[in-house]
Amino acid sequence: MYQALYRVWRPQKFEDIVGQNMISQTLKNAILSHKVSHAYLFTGPRGTGKTSAAKIFAKAINCPNQMNGEPCNVCDVCQSITQGTLGDVIEIDAASNNGVEEIRDIRDKSRYAPTQVQYKVYIIDEVHMLSTGAFNALLKTLEEPTQSVIFILATTEPHKIPATIISRAQRFDFKRITRQHIQERLTYILEQEQIEYDDRALQIIAKSANGGMRDALSLLDQAISYGDQGVRYEDALQVSGSISHEQMLSYVINIYEQNTSKALEDLHCVLRDGKEAGRFVEELLIFARDMLISQVVSPDGTLVDVLDSMPSISSEFIYAMIEELTLTQQALKVTTQKDIYLETFTLKMAKALDKKASNSADNALIQDLWQTVEQLKKQVEHLQKQENVQKVPIKDVPKRQNNKQFTPNLSKVFSVLAQATAKDKQLVQEEWHDIVSCLSVSQQGKLNSSVVLAASPHGIVLGFEYDVLCQMTATDTSLQQDLSQHGERLIKHPCRIECVPLSQWQTIRDKFVQSKKMGTLEQYLHPTLVEELEPQTARSSEHLEPLEEAITEIKEEIPEIISKATELFGDVVEVEE
Ligand SMILES: [Zn+2]
Repeated sequence: MYQALYRVWRPQKFEDIVGQNMISQTLKNAILSHKVSHAYLFTGPRGTGKTSAAKIFAKAINCPNQMNGEPCNVCDVCQSITQGTLGDVIEIDAASNNGVEEIRDIRDKSRYAPTQVQYKVYIIDEVHMLSTGAFNALLKTLEEPTQSVIFILATTEPHKIPATIISRAQRFDFKRITRQHIQERLTYILEQEQIEYDDRALQIIAKSANGGMRDALSLLDQAISYGDQGVRYEDALQVSGSISHEQMLSYVINIYEQNTSKALEDLHCVLRDGKEAGRFVEELLIFARDMLISQVVSPDGTLVDVLDSMPSISSEFIYAMIEELTLTQQALKVTTQKDIYLETFTLKMAKALDKKASNSADNALIQDLWQTVEQLKKQVEHLQKQENVQKVPIKDVPKRQNNKQFTPNLSKVFSVLAQATAKDKQLVQEEWHDIVSCLSVSQQGKLNSSVVLAASPHGIVLGFEYDVLCQMTATDTSLQQDLSQHGERLIKHPCRIECVPLSQWQTIRDKFVQSKKMGTLEQYLHPTLVEELEPQTARSSEHLEPLEEAITEIKEEIPEIISKATELFGDVVEVEE
């Protein structure tokens, strides 16, 4: 009869337990020094060796041939404990025996001394499943410890155990087993079983097992029975539902290089293979983490044990990807249209790069122009000194004019203020961060220093620390559309915004309060009147992007300097492109 690998290869000695050396050593020391506690709590994720350790412990303290804290595994005592037939070592699964009656029964029986061995051992697995009444009964038992009775409580969820129980037990936290340790163990087992294997297949299984040896072994079992010739890479991918390294790499690189249609093709290919969307996002997150870690030093190589070569992708991009993936992961939990979210994620990431690239192109252009201006200025000064000409002083290159103030649309701002309520403001304020975080990276940049100043059921007055950002936001219609869309979706509140520089807020508010008192508010709320009354505050129709403005200004300055220079020195001045 075929026996599952995890049963056959269940650790029978402390030294067989993978990845929990500290715990094994401490338990062996306790046995060797006869300092055994009457209650232990073993916590940790599934498949990390908790119940195996409990059984080995039960054997080691009762085995007449115990050596260095390890059981012999050949005597009657060891063998009957391994088979679960020794009456004094009792295993209880709290998931199926969570009643008070069962625990009371234990309490009564635990009073009696063991009959066959030195110590009676109760192993209660999944102890967090006990009912409150059962916990109380257990607590009573632990409060009146009986000589030669030991309780080992195991759980994956220690936070569900009452503190009164925890405080009466010696606690051991079992760690997730590293991929490397799992892979080593799988290799060892396959060598012993004389089964052929592909290293990459074991890597895939070790990764999918998520730190649990039992899952790793059952995946290995499946991979063995799936393929007819040992453990192949393709079988491992199939049984674990993993996406291949190549597929993942191709997808991420296509996004990074903005081959959007190819990235979408990769995505559809993965989904066509029947991979689950949530699983895909999870694996992408692990992949992103590995990419980040491969960029920093990892001295022992344990953290990136699965990845041999990683592409050079900017860490900024990876961080943005992780952030976006986390949002997508949340969205996937509440939607049935999972594929659409993944497509949106793909497009969003590629687009974010696009915007960043164009932003930095603009910045580069400005920098270039400024450099040229500075160079020319120096050239002129240099020539001036050389020729010792002081008759015609060259005036300084004019400073960029930054005093152009943004003028808010008073009529619209006032109409929001006229209907503003504290309740609306609070609602918008509380959700503002979430709404903004739905926007693209460059859109978020514009709103970074913004604050919600007031809100009515129909609109929001937004304050900006910097006039430039205020103007950029006020003229960005797609940003405004996206905002109102997300606002509608998230808080059922139209996020129609009116932008105000914070430096002008006080004045605007005073003006509003005053005109309300004077009864002249109507004039402001009527847009046609406003232009006549307040020609300066009405919004001018043309709003040049500040960026373009700056470039134009600099462009204008250059010929001025050149002409000044040529005027002075004739053809001596050479203009470098
Ligand atoms: Zn033995």
